[in-house]
Amino acid sequence: MGKFDYDLFVIGAGSGGVRAARIAATHGAKVAIAEEFRIGGTCVIRGCVPKKLLVYASRFSDEFEDARGFGWRTGEPVFDWPTLIKAKDKEIARLEGLYRANLNKAGVSIFEERAEIAGPNAIQLISSNRSVTAGKILVATGGRPSLGDPIEGLHHVITSNEVFDLKELPRRIAIYGGGYIAVEFAGILAGFGTDTTIVYRGDKILRGFDEDLRDGLTEAYGKRGIRVMTNRTFASIEKRDKGLIGHLDNGSSVKADQIMFAIGRVPNTADLGLETTSADCGWNGHVVVDDASRSTAETVYAVGDVTDRVALTPVAIREGHSFADTTFGGKPWSADYAMIPTAVFSTPEIGTVGLPQHLAEERSAELDIYKATFPPLKATLSGRDEKMLMKLIVDRQSDRVIGCHVLGEDAAEIVQMAAIAMRLGATKADFDATMGLHPSAAEEFVTMRERWIAPGEAAG
Ligand SMILES: Cc1cc2nc3c(=O)[nH]c(=O)nc-3n(C[C@H](O)[C@H](O)[C@H](O)COP(=O)(O)OP(=O)(O)OC[C@H]3O[C@@H](n4cnc5c(N)ncnc54)[C@H](O)[C@@H]3O)c2cc1C
Repeated sequence: MGKFDYDLFVIGAGSGGVRAARIAATHGAKVAIAEEFRIGGTCVIRGCVPKKLLVYASRFSDEFEDARGFGWRTGEPVFDWPTLIKAKDKEIARLEGLYRANLNKAGVSIFEERAEIAGPNAIQLISSNRSVTAGKILVATGGRPSLGDPIEGLHHVITSNEVFDLKELPRRIAIYGGGYIAVEFAGILAGFGTDTTIVYRGDKILRGFDEDLRDGLTEAYGKRGIRVMTNRTFASIEKRDKGLIGHLDNGSSVKADQIMFAIGRVPNTADLGLETTSADCGWNGHVVVDDASRSTAETVYAVGDVTDRVALTPVAIREGHSFADTTFGGKPWSADYAMIPTAVFSTPEIGTVGLPQHLAEERSAELDIYKATFPPLKATLSGRDEKMLMKLIVDRQSDRVIGCHVLGEDAAEIVQMAAIAMRLGATKADFDATMGLHPSAAEEFVTMRERWIAPGEAAG
């Protein structure tokens, strides 16, 4: 028996924690993991995976409409929310089982309860009231939706945690926020026929993304009947017999059956006991870590959304893996944050990698922009009034492609592949020399020859 009960105790069985626990165990460490909700964490239980299933479900409404232009005749399609939620729950339970089985197979002890830190090497298991010790503690507790400042009636709102389990599809929804979660759920619910309003305090949705993507999606959402109210905040929420009324800061209001707040996420460090160690927390409570995921306390490490790095599943997984290899496998390495591709699973979809134009302009002396906006081939027969946008940003001096942005069908799939080339330093000449795959939308990226000229530039 060593000095401690475990070599490693992981708090949180989400993307980062599960990967770290499994890999550390395969390196021979004695590992335990605690989970207070469900094994798999946000991504599997109430994030990426169930969301994408809902995105697929919501897009059938387009398919039914588009099919007519291709000769198909169907009866009036009927959508049943409880059937979808039941099927989604079954798949999530299956995935949770897989995660649990993989942890068991690796020999990781699982505690299905809340854990709190009780000292540099001590962990308290809350419901069973057990104390255990560990040589190292990995905080992988992720984040949770923030509700912002308290306002009257705030208890009536839902967040992304609850939206996956609603008993019935809301007829009307107001979604507060302009980030990717708000925008995605607006697309999902509108696809099911819900009357959808986005309320956002900024002046344009998807802050930080390339302006062309932001404008393009705002226009597409408008055509799809999604109202986008910008420069507005909620002042209070009132419950009436027939639903909710969200009172806005300018005196106007929105009526809805559900009001969903998606205004950001905060790291799960409250009451975690970090103060019993010398681990520092940052501005919003995140655990401060270095490149090797070490906190300021010698025995405490942190990975994933609980740190202030990039809050995405593949990033949490890489951080967990590199922590385990470095600390228990004698193979030190760090996650590489260059060229992380991301998507917004709106309909139409966004895929993006590298720099948006406004950041590229700050970092490069001279840029060449290539832009194409066109109706996709499918739209010629379906008649759908929606354009695809593809954009490349090239650093003129090096000819390197430093930004790649797509709005339209399969944007995420296209951009994932472009990310490999861009990470390898692909130049515009490399893109040009690559044979197109015809007919596809992605071939546009290897046939763009004309530099886009900004209106002002042309006049000059
Ligand atoms: C609606 C939504 C959609 C998303 N979509 C995408 C997407 O499309 N692509 C993408 O890459 N990312 C997406 N994300 C982000 C992604 O889910 C997270 O980046 C990822 O899950 C982070 O992993 P993690 O291990 O850091 O934390 P989590 O997966 O959040 O896991 C943390 C776990 O710790 C548990 N826990 C917390 N405190 C304790 C405690 N004291 N004791 C025991 N257990 C505890 C929690 O219950 C949770 O299970 C989405 C997130 C949301 C909310």
